[in-house]
Amino acid sequence: MKKFSLFMGLLFAAGFVSAAPLRVVTTTPDLADLARQVGGDKVKVDCLSRGNQDPHFVEAKPSLIIKVRDADLFVQTGLELEIGWAPVLIQASRNAKVQFGADGFLDAASYITPLDMPTAVSRSEGDVHPGGNPHYLADPHNALSVVKGLEKKMSQLDPSNAAVYAKNADGYSRRLTAKISEWESRLAPVKGVSFVSYHKNLVYFAAHFGFVKVGEIEPKPGIPPTAKHTDKLISLMKERQVPLILTMPHYDSRTPLSLAKATGAKVVVMALVPDAVPEATDYIAAIDYNVAGILNALGK
Ligand SMILES: [Zn+2]
Repeated sequence: MKKFSLFMGLLFAAGFVSAAPLRVVTTTPDLADLARQVGGDKVKVDCLSRGNQDPHFVEAKPSLIIKVRDADLFVQTGLELEIGWAPVLIQASRNAKVQFGADGFLDAASYITPLDMPTAVSRSEGDVHPGGNPHYLADPHNALSVVKGLEKKMSQLDPSNAAVYAKNADGYSRRLTAKISEWESRLAPVKGVSFVSYHKNLVYFAAHFGFVKVGEIEPKPGIPPTAKHTDKLISLMKERQVPLILTMPHYDSRTPLSLAKATGAKVVVMALVPDAVPEATDYIAAIDYNVAGILNALGK
């Protein structure tokens, strides 16, 4: 037995036998893509939600518990995005490696600066995330920070491949930085354009690219549209001459379309994460899709 393990050790050192990949589970498809970019062939990434699903509401199914049970690393968006289901899956998995606070648990939000921090007044209005708005990956600068966090965490869990993670993270960050410049220059002519979004999930996108948010179709985050709120929004959109209604595939299209009909604004269905629409094959492709959709709707 001792001889055998020495033999395996030699083969391992010589690169004939590769170690099992680090098993990574992420809550959302954007994090899954970033984890694949950093981990390359040293990781096996599984995602717990689909791109056309509302990330706030995912059913904690047994098939998802199994994925978490087998994971070495659990990555979540945090800021309560997955509060309704991620803690349930982690606890049910009984996987000590990925419990909250363990080495195999990564809250990606710890690498970004949140927007929409609630004030005492907004907190009393109910459904508000106390740590700030969780939809921060709509700003690609935040993706660069999360890539750094993933590299650090993967290197900590799998130090023998730290150089690979560093190289991958560096290469991807360069590619993403170049894309950010490209998106900024393509969107420069429409800077300052106002929009209404279905949910409060474009504040980081707007802050980065210089769009002005006028309101949301949801009267409060997670609350479906009401006739009264929609009427107010129509008046506001007419008054401010809002040309864009930005929504996502998992929201009902009726209110966006009726707002468009009443005001003349264009509806753009955005891919906030990979696989929200077929064209959004990864994180970069999703933003490409959104930039093209907005420019097209504005006739640019
Ligand atoms: Zn939200």
